[in-house]
Amino acid sequence: ELSKRLQYVASYVPEGVRLADIGSDHAYLPCYLMERGQIEHAVAGEVVKGPFESAERNVREHGFSDKIDVRLANGLQAIHEEDAIHTVTIAGMGGPLIAQILESGEKHLATVERIIAQPNIHARPIREWAVSNNWKLIDEAIMKEDGKIYEILVLERGEATYSEDELQFGPYLMREQSEVFIEKWQREAEAKRNILQALQKAQKTEDNARRSEKIKQELTNIEGV
Ligand code: SAM
Repeated sequence: ELSKRLQYVASYVPEGVRLADIGSDHAYLPCYLMERGQIEHAVAGEVVKGPFESAERNVREHGFSDKIDVRLANGLQAIHEEDAIHTVTIAGMGGPLIAQILESGEKHLATVERIIAQPNIHARPIREWAVSNNWKLIDEAIMKEDGKIYEILVLERGEATYSEDELQFGPYLMREQSEVFIEKWQREAEAKRNILQALQKAQKTEDNARRSEKIKQELTNIEGV
């Protein structure tokens, strides 16, 4: 059974596309989508040998070796022009790493029309990358599984500008204000309050004062949203 988190990611993959799943680990996502007849072809990219071998094994056991190419490659380098990839998924990593993978592999996105990113933490760098590279958010989701909260960002080509708050909280997510969204930011606020308390007990250095001010500002932003 595929995790609820990856099922959410899968739900944003259009019907019949050629998919590249970057950082695929066991290739669970492409195998699931292929099993349901939802995609035509897939590339599963992995940069680490162990997960790459698990992906190969899993694809072979599913009998998909002719439909899912498993490649040992860094980031978007797994995508070759002739693959004609339409949709890219990058799930289960931190937002800064996802943004860095997108940034350093931009030229491999020539045929790509949709990117589905699922950062475990810090989605903001992905939104910032999108704005500076002519991609825009077309949807976002937030969900909880096993007590952990995950965001899913869906990008397509196009121009967009976002406010500070929209970059931080997500334009769709902050408008929707779902229960999980509120819980996520209550958790973040709580963590910031704890840091603030610790800082106030700590030595009154200039550096600590600066950090306190910054955290207070972040708290005000969270409370505002
Ligand atoms: N995508 C799967 C999921 O969401 O369940 C696996 C997530 S796993 C936590 C992250 C995977 O990304 C690891 O297998 C890791 O080796 C791989 N990874 C990290 N950096 C990568 C990169 N630059 N290129 C390709 N794979 C990468």
